[in-house]
Amino acid sequence: MTASRPVGLEALFTPAFAQPAGSPIRELFPYLGRPGMISFAGGYPSPSLFDVAGLQQAAAQALGDAAAALQYGPTEGQPLLREALLELCTQRGLAARPAELLVTTGSQQAFDLLVRVLVQPGDTVLVEAPAYPAALQALRLAGARIAELPMDGDGLRTDTLAERLAQWATEGRRPKLLYTVPSFSNPRGSLLPLERRRQLVALAQAYGFLVIEDDPYGELRFSDEVLPTLHRLGHDAFGADHPVVYLSSLSKTVAPALRVGWMLAPEALVRRCAIAKQTVDLCTSPLAQLVAAHYLRSGRYPATVAAARTEYRARALAMADALSARLGDRLQWQRPAGGMFLWLQATAAVDAQRLFAAAVAQGVLFVPGAAFFQSPPADLALRLSFAAPDLAQIQEGVARLARAFELAASA
Ligand code: PMP
Repeated sequence: MTASRPVGLEALFTPAFAQPAGSPIRELFPYLGRPGMISFAGGYPSPSLFDVAGLQQAAAQALGDAAAALQYGPTEGQPLLREALLELCTQRGLAARPAELLVTTGSQQAFDLLVRVLVQPGDTVLVEAPAYPAALQALRLAGARIAELPMDGDGLRTDTLAERLAQWATEGRRPKLLYTVPSFSNPRGSLLPLERRRQLVALAQAYGFLVIEDDPYGELRFSDEVLPTLHRLGHDAFGADHPVVYLSSLSKTVAPALRVGWMLAPEALVRRCAIAKQTVDLCTSPLAQLVAAHYLRSGRYPATVAAARTEYRARALAMADALSARLGDRLQWQRPAGGMFLWLQATAAVDAQRLFAAAVAQGVLFVPGAAFFQSPPADLALRLSFAAPDLAQIQEGVARLARAFELAASA
């Protein structure tokens, strides 16, 4: 036997993992456990909205068929859940055929599978800026060339997109994908207007790239106005060969712990994502899928979503009012029309690190805006989630944030 020698671990990492940079949001976790901390950081649903009685009933039903619930299941998903999700898609006005549906372990996995199947190092992928950090992270790990597109209060600037695409076409450059959260974006909270939706889908069709429409928040609207999904508009305009892939999730409306999400995509893409999923987790937990299926079949889902809309609207208003009262001169923002987030932009220079440290010391957490960019701009921005804290915590948390601003400015 030869003498043992240490493995040169550093030399073994793939280039994507050579410089570890975890999710900036998940790295806030250690602060969450501090006693008395008020968190506006994660996109966590309110625990008070979890329908525990309904989920207990659904779990009992799921375990009633233990041979299915406790066994491995098909990679494409449990038939009972697939049926319930197709029904939910139909209610959302989506044209969905069974062969176009893949159940995933959260919608996060759906995005990751798409990236595995579609993105090679150097491929151009368009994202809105600011964008959901975990999507940026998946793209970085895949070696994508990330091209950021500006947003305004209405979301993605499709006019800028049109200009960029025309310019690239003259250089022979073509993006492969565009990732967007058109309804109540994370982090901006914006809702893309109908005309921009139409333009986006038409541009994708004209220039031959896929749009990944990520829609975990669409049902959490604060008014009764419903805009058609990009998937629906694509289908209406171009038929079955349209360029939109739709992702959604039960995380924000039922419970993130279920880890149930799904993808609607052309059959050829679903088939390949299912193959990728076989190597990742074989199948999404059948127990969780059957709990979700029985929950959706129980008829309780609409009331659960309605309760979330009412509660989140009240919390968003409370947060916006508290911010107006205490930080109106330092920050600007737009009242969200749905979802879980407020995006704040500083009106004067503030040191982001100093502010974050002061906020932690005061006992309030937020996500610094830089987390949402590939190339962060100099101006300070903050994302606050109003979903999980109750009204008293919102008042107190905003008061602490205001003190943190004072401390950061005077330090
Ligand atoms: N997309 C967006 C825009 C999100 O905000 C989130 C959750 N924060 C996800 C996807 C992932 O959700 P899931 O729990 O379904 O994986």
